[in-house]
Amino acid sequence: MKYVLVTGGVVSGLGKGVTASSIGLLLQACGLRVTSIKIDPYLNTDAGTMSPFEHGEVFVLDDGGEVDLDLGNYERFLDSTLTRDNNITTGKIYQSVIDKERKGDYLGKTVQVVPHITDAIQEWIERVANVPVDGKEGSPDVCVIELGGTIGDIESMPFIEALGQFSYRVGPGNFCLVHVSLVPVLSVVGEQKTKPTQHSVRGLRSLGLTPNILACRSTKALEDNVKAKLSQFCHVPEENIVTLYDVPNIWHVPLLLRDQKAHDAILKELNLLCNAMDPDLTEWTARTRVYDTLQDPVRIAMVGKYTGLSDSYLSVLKALLHASVACRRKLVIEWVAACDLEETAMVEAPNVHMAAWSLLKGSDGILVPGGFGDRGVQGKILAIKYARENKVPFLGICLGMQLSVVEFARSVLGLHDANSTEFDPETSSPCVIFMPEGSKTHMGGTMRLGSRRTYFQVADCISAKLYGNAKFVDERHRHRYEVNPDMTTEIEKAGLSFVGKDETGRRMEIVELPSHPYFMGVQFHPEFKSRPGKPSAVFLGLIAAASGCLEAVVRTSGQGDKVLANGVANGTPKAKVYQNRGVGRSWRGAPDVYSNGNGIHHD
Ligand code: GLN
Repeated sequence: MKYVLVTGGVVSGLGKGVTASSIGLLLQACGLRVTSIKIDPYLNTDAGTMSPFEHGEVFVLDDGGEVDLDLGNYERFLDSTLTRDNNITTGKIYQSVIDKERKGDYLGKTVQVVPHITDAIQEWIERVANVPVDGKEGSPDVCVIELGGTIGDIESMPFIEALGQFSYRVGPGNFCLVHVSLVPVLSVVGEQKTKPTQHSVRGLRSLGLTPNILACRSTKALEDNVKAKLSQFCHVPEENIVTLYDVPNIWHVPLLLRDQKAHDAILKELNLLCNAMDPDLTEWTARTRVYDTLQDPVRIAMVGKYTGLSDSYLSVLKALLHASVACRRKLVIEWVAACDLEETAMVEAPNVHMAAWSLLKGSDGILVPGGFGDRGVQGKILAIKYARENKVPFLGICLGMQLSVVEFARSVLGLHDANSTEFDPETSSPCVIFMPEGSKTHMGGTMRLGSRRTYFQVADCISAKLYGNAKFVDERHRHRYEVNPDMTTEIEKAGLSFVGKDETGRRMEIVELPSHPYFMGVQFHPEFKSRPGKPSAVFLGLIAAASGCLEAVVRTSGQGDKVLANGVANGTPKAKVYQNRGVGRSWRGAPDVYSNGNGIHHD
């Protein structure tokens, strides 16, 4: 097993996650089997209890692990399936050590950070690195480990110590440290400054880690003399210094690394040069070119909680992007804060209210994502009503699906009091109810989490066709509430169809409105399994319906995006040139989509 450790220096938010994913992809393109581990030095056991508005979305894995969103990036770039153990946190490590201590496994010894915590970290890494994540048998060849935070943080000290010991243990030729750093340009003189990187490398060395490769974020490619200086002061050969300069979107990063021969430098450190082939990124490059040249906009209104942090909906945005690229459309996200659509907003902030409605009405499709808590629920219901009545393509995810049933019950069945018991425990028409899988009393155990199977009830519904005429589909879940099975007959009679259910037939998984061009609600979170080149079926349906090419897409679904694109191309109206409204350059978030800037910081 070979290890690539990715650390970050100077400032946070340099795009370590994207760099680690891109390195993984590049090594994969060289024919190697790659797995990934993310280390988060916070005390939370997992990301499940963390607010997405503070920390970005909680990513959900097949095994139900609620993990850091960087694991989503790994899965998307490497098309892998990770487990909860691929996300190490301080909380998990301490818990395992304390559990052992309670069992008496340390035989009376004093339990300490060194060696017990540091040993536990190393054992964890070694154990998880050997688990295949690509569906094949046998251990992967390389494990890319990303250490969260910035060098020098108090929290990461035990991990740094453990990784220092680990690199020594696995020996040279098996361990390669890539340090991601910042080379700022001072606008007055326009000079690329190396000092912050020098300092952070010095910090790294003083903690016992030696960088093999420097990956420097900067606006432009590093000048030769700057590279020479870095090489001299940081003791890293010039050919091992790569620049991660600003690119239009993150799909360029693996190409950037390849063009600068980062794979050669890494493979050399890992003694793998003879085992690997030249990187083959043909498909990736072609898709990136397509993405770069998209012109025809498709406007999707995201009706969620108001948030300045687009990372809160990262996977949903990525899934929309994958689908848009497949349909050859430039994705434009219209952020609509659900609260602003409500009547109270009309009184309190009439301009904001009007602006929100005009964004919603100007969109080609409406998406109501998952969520917890009752803020904005009424606004979401109004958006759904608008989509349903005006035949605007609609996708409701988890809470969005539940609310589409509530809206239908209220408007069509005339059950004015209809609600989810999450928001009104006393409602006389509880069309969404608490249906936990685990414990009913213990908060941590009540969530229905991870991959579950949905069986299609009818063959000719749109979702079954979009899923390639499958009989069933496995998607990831994260919820406590579900459509009340005792009310479904009544709801179905009025025209809403539950076309996908679990194996018991008691849990409603997919809802469609057959009289509508595209009205889709899913209890699961399809965004977590969407991949570049393999867009999620129901997202693809939304974008296709919003772009007027649903029929073509349904005809070719399940055959990958190339076929799709050909199918769609015929039906595509000619491009009207679209004025860019600003390109985000942040590497993580909504970056690579155009947006009204309502809910996004661009950088
Ligand atoms: N709050 C809802 C539930 O727990 C929806 C959750 C979600 O959208 N992820 O069922």
